[in-house]
Amino acid sequence: MKVLVINCGSSSLKYQVFNMSKEEVLARGEIERIGIDNPRSRYEKMGAKEGLKEALIEKVISNHKHAIKFAVDNLVNEEDGVIKELNEIKAVGHRIVHGGENFFSSVIIDEEVLKVLERCSNLAPLHNPPNIAGIKGTQEIFANSVQVGVFDTAFHQSMKKKSYLYGIPYELYEKYGLRKYGFHGTSHKYVAKRATLLLEKPLSELKLISCHLGNGASICAIDKGKSVDTSMGFTPLEGVVMGSRSGDIDPTIVTFLQEKEELSTKEINELLNNNSGVLGLSGVSNDFRDLQLEANKGNQRAKIALDVFVYRVVKFIGSYIMVLGGVDGLIFTAGVGENSPYIREKIVDYLNYVGVKIDRNKNQIKGEEKDISTQDSPFRVLVIPTNEELMIARETVELYNWKFGDKN
Ligand code: ADP
Repeated sequence: MKVLVINCGSSSLKYQVFNMSKEEVLARGEIERIGIDNPRSRYEKMGAKEGLKEALIEKVISNHKHAIKFAVDNLVNEEDGVIKELNEIKAVGHRIVHGGENFFSSVIIDEEVLKVLERCSNLAPLHNPPNIAGIKGTQEIFANSVQVGVFDTAFHQSMKKKSYLYGIPYELYEKYGLRKYGFHGTSHKYVAKRATLLLEKPLSELKLISCHLGNGASICAIDKGKSVDTSMGFTPLEGVVMGSRSGDIDPTIVTFLQEKEELSTKEINELLNNNSGVLGLSGVSNDFRDLQLEANKGNQRAKIALDVFVYRVVKFIGSYIMVLGGVDGLIFTAGVGENSPYIREKIVDYLNYVGVKIDRNKNQIKGEEKDISTQDSPFRVLVIPTNEELMIARETVELYNWKFGDKN
């Protein structure tokens, strides 16, 4: 069965086609600068000699539906396409950022679901509208396929009130849905499942702490396969210090800056989302590779930015060990977690107190699945590359089979 996975950002479309009988990617692509000038396209048929094809698109790609049409032209292309006709795509999985309190799991998208998603848009005004545009465009173009929504927030809907409520008047939670939602749920769920293979135990017997450390970063406490707490909150701005996002700050800093620097709401959002984090601290970059190079050359602000990042991650790990009442596996995933032996070592150094150590040789791996802890460690430290697209494709097939039976 062939499944298309779609991830629509405000001005981008990422897509992958899977052959789910072998769980293999057949092709992947990306269209950037939708609705603005000079749109770009990347497309790759896996295993093809030409590899990744990058091109400037001559015309303006006016909206997400237009971008999906453009993607389809690549997918059916005689030379390096992977489908002959659109009917081969039985189901389309959509990454949806915010499902509010409405979705505990992935869903088949119908008119009712679309209405609920539109209502959730005020919780994620930058993310949900393009997600919805992608769904509507796909519904028209792949009219015979089933559309499935997979939410970043759904995995965290298992959190209890004591984890997700903020210490603000309860009426504001009731009126506006002001609470912690958590994000990266698809990634945390995926790596938790993979951890069962490395730890040779079912999820029902495991307490896990998953560290998704990429440009955006979040930590999740997982008990028996369920998220009990996570560092991101009402939006993906809360939690650890990230590439360019501040993470937790004293909320008074916002009103202080509004007063002293006369910043507008838009400017504050820009400052905290795009100019803060390790970028803002270092003044160098939001890319951890650049920071490490600079720190090695003696740049003190780059070093401090890395120290702050590590320290903030460690504080969450420590608190989640208490929340879970112990831990069996600490998981590192995403760009930094999968590829930076330096950051992993610095984080685990703080855990020596509880006897956890990493094996320096094993820790040298990048982008591989591996237990990197020493044999005598009281719990395991695992590197598990995330694969959100595969997880979306799996959930899509699961719902498709539930609806139509497992004959395809
Ligand atoms: P996102 O999906 O949030 O954009 P990713 O999970 O792709 O982020 O992670 C991107 C980040 O991973 C980059 O900013 C870069 O700092 C980091 N990264 C990638 N490779 C390495 C590496 N070898 N060492 C350190 N950091 C790395």
